[in-house]
Amino acid sequence: MIQKVVPFSHEFLENLASKFGTPFHIYDEKAIRENVRNLKEAFSWAPKFQEYFAVKATPNPYILQILKEEGLGADCSSLPELILAERVGLTGEDIVFTSNDTPAIEYKKAREIGAIINLDDISHIDFLNREAGIPKLVSFRYNPGPLRKGGNSIIGNPEDAKYGVTREQLFDCYSRVRELGAERFGLHTMIISNELDPDYFIETARMMFELAIEIKNKLGINIEIINLGGGIGIPYRPEQKPVDLKYIGKKIQELYNEMIRPAGLHPLKIAMECGRMITGPYGYLVARVLHLKETYKNYVGLDASMADLMRPGIYGAYHHITVMGKENMPLDHMYDVTGSLCENNDKFAIDRMLPKINRGDLIVIHDTGAHGHAMGFNYNGKLRSKELLVKPDKSVELIRRAETIEDYFATLDFSRLK
Ligand SMILES: *Cc1c(COP(=O)(O)O)cnc(C)c1O
Repeated sequence: MIQKVVPFSHEFLENLASKFGTPFHIYDEKAIRENVRNLKEAFSWAPKFQEYFAVKATPNPYILQILKEEGLGADCSSLPELILAERVGLTGEDIVFTSNDTPAIEYKKAREIGAIINLDDISHIDFLNREAGIPKLVSFRYNPGPLRKGGNSIIGNPEDAKYGVTREQLFDCYSRVRELGAERFGLHTMIISNELDPDYFIETARMMFELAIEIKNKLGINIEIINLGGGIGIPYRPEQKPVDLKYIGKKIQELYNEMIRPAGLHPLKIAMECGRMITGPYGYLVARVLHLKETYKNYVGLDASMADLMRPGIYGAYHHITVMGKENMPLDHMYDVTGSLCENNDKFAIDRMLPKINRGDLIVIHDTGAHGHAMGFNYNGKLRSKELLVKPDKSVELIRRAETIEDYFATLDFSRLK
């Protein structure tokens, strides 16, 4: 079987464990930077290309700062995410605000910092106009519904997804915002998550280019930004391969030349808002084995829990596991690897073949760099772990401390107890 390799040595991680304590998420700065450069390279042909990192994937300012240095913007969908982007120095059109069911205060903040507002519904046009005013540049999120098949368990079929406007509504949307003073226009979609088939993204580009041409023909509106959304998958399983970004870039370039140039829509900005593929493979959750339990099954109990990584518990998602120092031992023991919540879903792996595990072993759970720490919650009074960053010179920085019991109680006022 093909193995996934941990880019840090056992000794290196043991040293971090004794310095910082387990569990922790650890991110590899050098690998993140290289990955971003590859994505940008794949779209270097485009007159304008921008990746807006989906902040929800890894909402840590030190990670956002690295991405900003590499030229990425931010995709935000809440007030705290807008503030986080602002705090790392991103403003204006380096931020896309793609929200849904949006409170007025969030539109106000997005307007204040000049973010590109990407509206999720036709009814939000008048709401935005009333609450914060219509900006010069307005984008809409398109949901093709039954016109597009596919989808997967994370985001579902477009038809069942709560996001975006229908094809019919879209034309009315642009007419309406133009009446209200908009002069520049964007078109956005996000209909897939964790997709490994590169052709899916090429078909999405084709769908969006066709739509932009139709909007020009019907309304005389020139779309200037097409945002293809996020959703590029990562190889969580050892036998999976990363998405070929060069291939996607090249095929979208062909479509651009065949469709966008003759339609008179050149120069068009191509945008993406990937989260997972930017940081996902370059983060790891490191935990210690606390207990071994043998009942009807064999359990390995870690000092991390669902509070630190929810994906296996909520989606049954696969995350590869390496037992440090036992990389070359046969995978001849079957275990359920669990956390300590009183919730039977709190398992990082079920029926996983691993080497024989002992108490105290150091376990690495792969691909936790996106939608990992970020999804954590405090159910059962469990506290989220710290986050560490390995810099290119191999020095390590604590970029978020672990939660404390004081944090957990911070919203309670005990003084009024009788
Ligand atoms: C979550 C989300 C993304 C990022 O998705 P990934 O699967 O991490 O690439 C991008 N855009 C929107 C609107 C999202 O909600």
